[in-house]
Amino acid sequence: MDFIFECEVNMKCSSCDRQAIITRKQAGVSLCSEHFIDYFERTVYETIASTRMIEEHDRIAVAVSGGKDSTALLFSLHKILKGRDVKMVAITVDEGIRGYRDDTIRAARDIAGKLNVEHHIVSFREEYGYSLDQMVIGKNVAPCTFCGVFRKHALNRAAKRLGADEVATGHNLDDEAQTVMMNYLKGDYERLMRFRPSRIQKGLVPRIKPLRAMPEKEIALYCMVNGIFAESRECPYADLSLRADVRDMMNALESQFPGTKQSTVLGFEEIAKRERGMWTQMDLEECRVCGEPCVNGRCKACELLEQLGAVALPG
Ligand code: SF4
Repeated sequence: MDFIFECEVNMKCSSCDRQAIITRKQAGVSLCSEHFIDYFERTVYETIASTRMIEEHDRIAVAVSGGKDSTALLFSLHKILKGRDVKMVAITVDEGIRGYRDDTIRAARDIAGKLNVEHHIVSFREEYGYSLDQMVIGKNVAPCTFCGVFRKHALNRAAKRLGADEVATGHNLDDEAQTVMMNYLKGDYERLMRFRPSRIQKGLVPRIKPLRAMPEKEIALYCMVNGIFAESRECPYADLSLRADVRDMMNALESQFPGTKQSTVLGFEEIAKRERGMWTQMDLEECRVCGEPCVNGRCKACELLEQLGAVALPG
């Protein structure tokens, strides 16, 4: 837990006389635990308010995997939205990853119970007939590709069933910077532009990312100071993805040149702003198999399921 003291011992908080627990190098401030929590929740609040992510009377489905990001998300939203006419419900997607998911599901159940938030679990096995482990046996594919497609599909369906107005996910600044960089590296301009959807699409519950300005390390620290940190193992498939290499590269750059992750995201935001209007978003259709939104008559999840031999396509 060395990053709890990512500042010199005996360093005072910039706002009071207490011991600082973190120095935010870019901002040039050191913060004690109390002022760090203030800063964290204020930033999350400002992220929500700046794009009006959440409105009064909304019902928010919070995607809670049980890892630190989604735990911090549920905890901070619960605090920030206290007293507002906003209802929260937690959804955990159980992909079926042996030796990894069981612990995080327990952690998700614990944090939802502690905060008295209604909690639902949807599993790949029940939704699609296969766990992720079964889906990837003997296949020369990156498990994250299957996982990402089915997770989005399952989450959207569950959010609709629960009448949610939006799905909040725990994506943080590191995730955002990695996604931008991965799309640059793949030269995938269209996907890059789709990363910031410009309008609401029928059948697709809007996604919000209240933690998108928060670095991963600060999220871990927020969990620690609030006593909600659940140590979890890394997904056994994580190292097989391009994201893992990009993550390592971005971490190395960030430690050598602080602010790299933020400038990667801000640079992309600037491009997206200039391109707005020049790039029209495609109208989504209903998948002819499952009814979920898609681009070419059949969604990616049903396409993959067909490959797995589970879906007989009509006509
Ligand atoms: Fe899914 Fe890949 Fe994340 Fe594991 S690392 S949970 S397989 S997306």
